[in-house]
Amino acid sequence: MTTYVYDTSDQAMLNVGWLAPDYAYRTGIVDDRVIDALKVLSGAYENQMRGFHYCEFCDADRIWIPDGPGGEARVWLGSAEIRVEGEDGTLYASPNLIIHYITEHRYCPPEEFCRAAVRTAGIETTGPLTVVE
Ligand SMILES: [Zn+2]
Repeated sequence: MTTYVYDTSDQAMLNVGWLAPDYAYRTGIVDDRVIDALKVLSGAYENQMRGFHYCEFCDADRIWIPDGPGGEARVWLGSAEIRVEGEDGTLYASPNLIIHYITEHRYCPPEEFCRAAVRTAGIETTGPLTVVE
């Protein structure tokens, strides 16, 4: 939840999900609606970068998730960002690799980020979206 400084942007954003093996991260259970929201939003390929950032926690190579109505397309993780906006207007920037971190490495992003993600994707929610372990 540090201030986003990766590139020049005219809006302040908070960082979420930029994980590295040298730093402990919060683990827990993340509601499926959050994962669904992030998958939908990852199709936008915000701030696409040249090259790939691989997962530093496992040997997974060229990570992708199915996309499109029938899952016929692929969204490549590790080369773009997902940006979401909370109800209070707070903007968050995360690597799209966050989906892999959640599903494969039990990463549990901050509740406010998860809420912002489902809100940005237009998914209705009530109750908490994360359970910290
Ligand atoms: Zn991994």
